[in-house]
Formats: sequence, C-alpha cells, structure tokens
Amino acid sequence: MADFKTVDKKYVANTYNRFDVEISHGKGAYAYDKDGKEYIDMGTGIGVNAFGYCDEVWLDAVKEQLSRIQHTSNLYYTEPCSNLAQILCEKTGFSKVFFSNSGAEANECAIKVARKYACDKYGEKRYNVITLKNSFHGRTITTLSATGQDVFHTKFKPLTEGFLYVDANDFDGLKECVENNEVAAIMLECVQGEGGVLVLDEEYVKNVANFAKERDILLIVDEVQTGNGRLGTLYGYMNYGITPDIVSTAKGLGGGLPIGATLLSKKVENVLAFGDHGSTFGGNPVVCAGAISIINRLTDEFLAEVAKKGEFIKQTLKDCNGILSVSGKGLMIGIETSRPAKEVVLDCIKEGVLCLTAKTKVRLLPPLNISYETLTVALDVIKNVCAK
Ligand SMILES: *Cc1c(COP(=O)(O)O)cnc(C)c1O
Repeated sequence: MADFKTVDKKYVANTYNRFDVEISHGKGAYAYDKDGKEYIDMGTGIGVNAFGYCDEVWLDAVKEQLSRIQHTSNLYYTEPCSNLAQILCEKTGFSKVFFSNSGAEANECAIKVARKYACDKYGEKRYNVITLKNSFHGRTITTLSATGQDVFHTKFKPLTEGFLYVDANDFDGLKECVENNEVAAIMLECVQGEGGVLVLDEEYVKNVANFAKERDILLIVDEVQTGNGRLGTLYGYMNYGITPDIVSTAKGLGGGLPIGATLLSKKVENVLAFGDHGSTFGGNPVVCAGAISIINRLTDEFLAEVAKKGEFIKQTLKDCNGILSVSGKGLMIGIETSRPAKEVVLDCIKEGVLCLTAKTKVRLLPPLNISYETLTVALDVIKNVCAK
C-alpha cells in the first residue's frame, strides 16, 4: 500500500500531531493498519464509532439509504431527517431538533438560540453566556471563545464577545457572576471530556439548573462527547435529574458519519424562525439513517450494560501499579497515571491498543458494545504499560 503517511505530512495542514499508525480498515472494536497489525480501539475515533468499526446494523442502514438518495437540500423534506428528529424528541422529551454536522456547529446553534431568546425577551444587552473553566466546546471562533481554556485563545484574538468563565463546582462563584452581568445562558459539560474526564458534582449541577430556571437563564448542556449512551444513559444530563433547555450533541450520534444536533425544549422550540439559521449538509439522509440505527439500539437494557462495563473498567484499573486514580462515568474513563499519559499511549500502541489522552490523563472511549473479553485484553495491556 502507498506510503500515505509521507503524503499526508506533505499535503495535509499541520494541525494534527498524528501517532505513527496508518489505519486501513476496521471491524467492531478492532482496527488494522496497512501492514495488517491488529489494534483494539479504546478511543473509537474520539467517541464517534459508537458501535465500533463497520457495525453491520449501521452499515446496512447507511448503505440502504445511500442507494436511495445521498443528499437533497433543506429546501425539501426527507424521511430519515424527520424520523431521527421524532425519535430524539420522543426519547428525551425535547420538542424540536436542529441538525448540523459537528459538535462545534451544534454548540453554535445553541448559543444563537440562547442569545435570541434573551434578546427577544429582555433586550439586546442580555447576551452573555457563562461557561466553565477547563471546558471544551469546539474550534470555531465562537465555540473557541466559549471554551474556558486560555491556551486555546491566545493565538486567535479577537474572540467572540460575551463569554464569562467561572470555576466548575463553585456554585457561589457562578451566582456572583450572574448577579454582576446580564446573562442569557449557562453552558456546561456534565463530564468535562477534553478537560480531563472530570465529572461535575451532582449537587452543583442541580443547583445550577434550579438557579438558571429561577432567573430564566437558559441551561445548555454540551453533550457532544457525553451523549448518545456514552455515560450509560441516553444523555449525560439524565444522570443528574435535571432538564436542560438546550442540549447539543454530535460525536457518537452518527456512529461514524458527521452529524451535530441541537435539541430544543418547549421553551425555546420557536426561538429560531425562517432564515435565522441553516446548514447545507445538516440533516443529511445518509447520516440520519445511520444515526437512527444507533439511537434505536440504545435501549434501557443496553445502557445499563454500558454503565456496568464502566464500573468493570474502574474496578479492574483501580489500585493497579502506576495508576493513581480513575475518573469518569459509563464508558468515558480518565486514568491518572504515574508515567506521562503520552508515553502510556505510545507503549499501548506498540502492544496493539489504541487509547486517547485528555490533558494529563489517559482517556478511554471504547465502543459501547465492546465485549468483556476484548475489554479484558485491552485492560491487561493498559495495566502492564502503566506499571512499567
Ligand atoms: C469534541 C467536542 C466538541 C467539538 O466537536 P467537533 O465535532 O469537533 O466540532 C464540542 N464539545 C465537546 C464537549 C466535545 O467533546
């Protein structure tokens, strides 16, 4: 096979510090490189391949739709788009969905809805969105501005105005920020993914949700990474007994094809009117057909299994040599290691296991349907590498 690594280095923009692995194909939890070496993929393309590589059910749904129609525009109705919206609403209690193509776009839509809602009701000064320090909301200029990490900001100023950052799990700090500013919305991840798999306190999240409701400040939960079964619930917020006004999601929803979705509650379902927002590719029929095949399989029994597998990982890894702590929920796991996380990941690659990092941690986002057998093999490798 051609040396696509060299070609990539020459012609693809230098934004990714890729690992020295040339992936050629995959099946289920297994990826294969161009020389046929097998890897257990504990990262699923950053939580995207919810049912692993080339899952049969998903593949059939996508292929079937692909041979009917690959795209029309949002000038017309298509069945997969309307079906997916209905399924999402019926399973969550949200009222309407806006479809886009990525997590950042799902968040852009959420922010636009929040600003318009507040402006319509309270005037144009109420535009601020509070986000949490250490959060991650995307790479567009506005979602970068929403991201509460200075490292992402410095090279790209001026950023979009109107974002305020508060410490996670500090409810008093958040209240103070609201008192001192005109706030349209609060946006948070229930588990900060890129920030290091940090689970927000339940009490804090509940307090924020109640306080936001009292003040008619919209609560946006960014479920780009935590959504679609990842935390052992259909959406992560369901672990917290709260009902957000807006939920954004992407990654796992499409099972491997690009999709973003912004779920709108009754309160905000009609905030956006004709012409206020749009996306050429949003709601693509092939992508939506794949997403339907994913969402329909996230039954209560299946999700309970995801939660159990998460506990199994935690139990297996905790107190192992070289492992300082394990965080996360469901199949979104962060491992604090004695060795630098990057070294652990590099050694795991040698041993045939693909893992991710998140800040200083090793991060695992395995396929939701990974077998205990495969999981055990991967965890043995990770344990051995961490103990080195
Ligand atoms: C990955 C991620 C995003 C950005 O998603 P893209 O599809 O890369 O635009 C936004 N928010 C969270 C929480 C994410 O994990």
